[in-house]
Amino acid sequence: MSNPKRYLITAALPYANGLKHVGHLAGAYLPADIYVRYLKAQKRDVVFVCGSDEHGTAIPIQATKEGTTARDIIDKYHPIMAQNFQDLGIAFDIYHRTSDPLHHATAQEFFTRLNDNGDLEIKETEQYFDEEANSFLADRYIKGTCPNCSYPGAYGDQCENCGKSLSPDELINPVSTLSGKAPVKKQTRHWYLPLNRHEDFLREWILKEHANDWRSTVVGQCKSWIDGGLQPRAVTRDLDWGVSLPETVEGGKGKVLYVWFDAPIGYISATKQWALDNGKDWRPYWEDKDTKLVHFIGKDNIVFHCIIFPVMLKLHGNILPDNVPANEFLNLEGDKMSTSRNWKLEMQDYIDDFINKENGGSQMADVLRYYLTQIAPETKDSEFTWKGFQDANNSELVSIFGNFVNRALVLMHKLCKGKVPPLHPNALTDLDTSTLAEFSVTKEKVEALLEQYKFRDALFEVINLARIGNQYMQKKEPWILAKQTGEDGQPLTDAQQSIDNTLHICLQLCANLAVLINPFLPFTARKICYLLKVVDKMLDWENAGKTKLLSVGYSLRAPELLFRKIEDAEISYQLEKLQSAAIKRESLVGSSESAITNTEKIMEENTPGTLPVKPTIVFDDFAKIDLRVGKIIAAEKVEKADKLLKLTVDLGFETRTIVSGIALHFTPEEIVGKQITVVVNLAPRKMRGIESNGMILMAEDAAGKLHFINPEEGIDNGSSIS
Ligand SMILES: [Zn+2]
Repeated sequence: MSNPKRYLITAALPYANGLKHVGHLAGAYLPADIYVRYLKAQKRDVVFVCGSDEHGTAIPIQATKEGTTARDIIDKYHPIMAQNFQDLGIAFDIYHRTSDPLHHATAQEFFTRLNDNGDLEIKETEQYFDEEANSFLADRYIKGTCPNCSYPGAYGDQCENCGKSLSPDELINPVSTLSGKAPVKKQTRHWYLPLNRHEDFLREWILKEHANDWRSTVVGQCKSWIDGGLQPRAVTRDLDWGVSLPETVEGGKGKVLYVWFDAPIGYISATKQWALDNGKDWRPYWEDKDTKLVHFIGKDNIVFHCIIFPVMLKLHGNILPDNVPANEFLNLEGDKMSTSRNWKLEMQDYIDDFINKENGGSQMADVLRYYLTQIAPETKDSEFTWKGFQDANNSELVSIFGNFVNRALVLMHKLCKGKVPPLHPNALTDLDTSTLAEFSVTKEKVEALLEQYKFRDALFEVINLARIGNQYMQKKEPWILAKQTGEDGQPLTDAQQSIDNTLHICLQLCANLAVLINPFLPFTARKICYLLKVVDKMLDWENAGKTKLLSVGYSLRAPELLFRKIEDAEISYQLEKLQSAAIKRESLVGSSESAITNTEKIMEENTPGTLPVKPTIVFDDFAKIDLRVGKIIAAEKVEKADKLLKLTVDLGFETRTIVSGIALHFTPEEIVGKQITVVVNLAPRKMRGIESNGMILMAEDAAGKLHFINPEEGIDNGSSIS
C-alpha cells in the first residue's frame, strides 16, 4: 500500500497485572512509536492507540497474590503503566483501558453481530471444574506436566519452561491451583469461533498476498499454525471477571468473553474514545479500505493478530491489517527475561535509576531507546547487556553523535563569532560537495528502511551521518586553518572561507541529524532544536536532506552536552541488582516444590530459577509446612558455586546439612551461631552433589540485603513455628 489516506497504528495491549519490562518496550511499543513519529513528521493522518488489557485470569490471579481485588489491581497498574510509557517518550494518541464501559459495549456489540450472523458455533462441552472451590477452572488455574518438555509446573494455557501453547486437556496429571485437588470434568455451554471455516481465506491472504511484505518469521509462524489444522476456538469463559455476554444472549448468564476475544477489540474502543475526545469520526479508521492498519506486537501474539483477530475483523466488516511487524524476544544478560523469575529490567526501575535522577533526565530515556533500537529483535532474539548499554552510550551517542554536535557548536563560537557562517560557493571543495550530498542520500536510506519496519538499520544510517560529519570535520581541520593568520592577526581570507564552509556544512548537518533522529530519540532532537535556536517545526520530515535549514548570520546558543558518559559503577550496580533479585528467588525457593524435579538442575547450573510464581494455597496446604527454629553450627562455601553455602544446622532433635543460595550475602564466619527459621519437611535435594535437607527462610529489605528470620531472644532449637 503506498500513501494511504490514513494510518491506524496499534501496539499490543499490556496486561494491567504488574510492571512491564524493557523486553515489552523493545518488542512492541518502541518500534510502534518510532514509526508513528516518522509518519507524524510527514504530516500524515495517523492515530496511535494502545491501552491496558484489564481482563483475563491474570488479573484476579495477581489480586489473590497481592491480597486485594481485581478492580484494585487494574486501578493500581493502569496509571503506572501509562506514566512509564510517557516517561520513555512513547506518545500514544490514547492509552485506553478495557475496563471502560465504552469497551464493554463495543466488545458486546462485536460478539452480538457475529453471533446474529451465524458466524459463531455453540457447543456443550466438558470442562475442568474444581468441586471444592465450586468453580470452573480457567486455563491459568490448572497446572500439570507439560506434554512437550515434561516440565511439571506447566499452566493450562502455556508451558513457561518450553514456551509451548497448551490446552488444559493436554496437561498430564492436571491439578487445580485453587484447591490443589485434581479437577473433574463438568458439562458447560460455550460459543466458538470456527477458525476452520476460514482456512482458504487465511492461506490466500497471509501465505500468498503477504508472503513477501510481511516478516518471514511472522509468515512462517502463521503457516505452521494453518498447516497444523485450524480448530474452533472458544470465545466465552465461565468466569466472573471480564466483559459479560450481552443480556440478550440466551444461556449467556454468568459467562464472559474470553480475554483473547475482547482484548484486540480494545483497539477499536480506544479509537472510538480518541475520536470522542477529539471531535473526529472513528469509523473510517476501521472501515475505509484506504486506511493502513499496522499492529506492533511481540512474537507471542502473532497467532492472535495474524489469524484470529483478522478473521473476527473480516466477519465484522472491518479492514484487515496491512502488516504485523512482530518482534522476536529480547533476552537479558544471557537468559530469557521473565517477570515470574525476577530476571528482568522493569521500565519503572530504569526510570527510577536514570531518568528521575538529577544527572539523567529525559535525555536518558533516549539512551534506552537508542540501545533497544540498536539491538532490536527484528529478525531473531537479541540480548540486552548492561555492558552493551554502556558501550552504545559511551562509544556511539557520546563519542560520535553528541561529540559531533558539540564540536560543531564549539568551533562555530570560536571561529565564526557565534553565528552561522556563510557558504562561499567559489571555495567549495569536492569534500564539501560530497558531504552535502550525503544529507539526501541518508534521508532516502532512512525513509526506505522505516517504510519496511527496519528500525535498527534506519538508526544505523542516522548515526552514520554523524560519523560522516566527524570524519569531514577531521579532514577539514578548521582549527589548523585558523592559525594561518595575516599581519592583523586575523585568518587569511582563503582560510576563513574554508573555515566558514566547514562550519556552515557541519551546522546544517547538525540540523539534519535532528530531523532524522527525531523518530528514534525525540528528546535529543528537541534539545538540538533548542541549541540551534529553531522551533520544533524544523523537525518536519520534509526538511530531511535539505542543506539550508539554518540561516546565515543566525546566532546559536552556547554548546551543551547532549549525552553524559555512563560510568562503570552504574553498570556494576545494575548487574548486582539483577543478580540479587534472582538470588532472592533462589534462596526463597531453595529446595522446595517437591513436584518440580528440575529445580535441582537449575540450582546446580547456578542460573536463576525458572519457577513460575506459586499459585494460591489454602490453609491446609500451609499447615503441611513444618517450620522450626534451628541454629547454624557450621558453614562453608560450596566448591564451584559462587552463591551456595553448605550449612550444618542444629534442630534440637537432630543435626542436618542444608545448602542455601546466600553465599554472595554472607561469609561462612559471620553466620555461625545464628538462630534461623527452617522448613524441615522438604524432600531432600542434591545440589552440587551435596544432599540438602530443608530450607532456610530469608527476608529481603528494600536495598536487596538478606536477613535471617530469627527469634528475638534465643529459644530452644527445634521449637515449632506456626
Ligand atoms: Zn514445556
